[in-house]
Amino acid sequence: MPSRNILVVNCGSSSIKFALVNEADPHFPLSGLAERLGSEEAVLHLQRRNADKESVPIPGADHIAALARLLPIVETVAEGQLHGIGHRVVHGGEFFTAASLIDDEVLDAIRTTSPLAPLHNPANLQGIEAAMALFAQLPHVAVFDTAFHQTLPEHAFRYAVPDVLYREHGVRRYGFHGTSHRFVSRQAADMTGLAVGDSSWLTAHLGNGCSTCAIANGQSLDTSMGLTPLEGVAMGTRSGDVDPNLHSHLARTLGWSLEQIDRMLNHDSGVKGLSGLSNDMRTLEQAREQGHAGATLAIEVFCYRIAKSLAAMGCALSRLDGLIFTGGIGENSPLIRSRIVAHLKLLGLELDGEANARCIRGVGGMIHADGHPRVLVVPTNEERQIALDTLALLPE
Ligand code: AMP
Repeated sequence: MPSRNILVVNCGSSSIKFALVNEADPHFPLSGLAERLGSEEAVLHLQRRNADKESVPIPGADHIAALARLLPIVETVAEGQLHGIGHRVVHGGEFFTAASLIDDEVLDAIRTTSPLAPLHNPANLQGIEAAMALFAQLPHVAVFDTAFHQTLPEHAFRYAVPDVLYREHGVRRYGFHGTSHRFVSRQAADMTGLAVGDSSWLTAHLGNGCSTCAIANGQSLDTSMGLTPLEGVAMGTRSGDVDPNLHSHLARTLGWSLEQIDRMLNHDSGVKGLSGLSNDMRTLEQAREQGHAGATLAIEVFCYRIAKSLAAMGCALSRLDGLIFTGGIGENSPLIRSRIVAHLKLLGLELDGEANARCIRGVGGMIHADGHPRVLVVPTNEERQIALDTLALLPE
């Protein structure tokens, strides 16, 4: 059978990220981004393999218009052989424990889950509906950020709040970045010759959003994000855990509205808020080198909180086969990896400086010092995992 092609689509409220994935090709034949959709500045950025980036203005285009422009390009690059479309969906609630072939029932369930992800799920749905209208003959699959974490035991996913809030309103911990945690833990098993079904990992997905996860025998047992992606470690612009009374404190003392507090915690906090400078770790590392106090503090808080979260995740495991770093920061920053591991002496972790320095820009590998527990850098590839999940559900 010739190798199959899957288009992977990730729709935001005004953007569509996409990649054409060929099952036999480690590189994407085509990838890109349509952004500022719905405005006169709408633009489609395309990256064909071994070619320069291209930007096509698509003034006024909405999701459906952008996908309509994209379709013939995808068909040409795939030489008329497109086998299915995989859609990233942020929140699958308790409905979805795995990827699902999309039908009316699945669309209804994604719609029902929207109150849990009011910014993301409606945009994901809009993209799915537009793509289904345009590519009606193709199978469409939804792959959920939350699905991998549906194996969390109840003692890990419940909040200590009145039972009725869970039973009647779905208030519980769901976790996110599941596609990435799953992909890198499988890769790590491959890299170490361990069976997925008999291996035990701590993972740190460190990008603009950050989360940690404990994975045993291919199943997520705990993770740092919760009802929403705000819980857990400090991130680029998100605070991570704060005292839940912060809301009432700010409302009482400063008169802030819920919207103001929400914006502050999601968009003006994290390393951006702490440093007063940027959410971009490269900028912060450079500023730290030059003695910027805010950047230095932001990096210290960021690393300590991640280490603390990883140590806490250790409660879910009975042994450790390795700590895995991934995401833009986890894959590219020897400094951040070494600052995090420095706080994890209790787990016996120690890095090999040279190996740590070598793992940047897509180079993965083992970075622990001899005689110490494994630490690995594993480049994530959520698009490939979504394509694999889509392929697995294609009708025979
Ligand atoms: P992601 O959300 O996974 O794309 O990751 C974005 C984050 O990765 C940003 O904070 C970037 O600054 C960070 N990043 C990318 N390259 C590097 C690098 N060479 N050193 C440090 N951080 C990096």
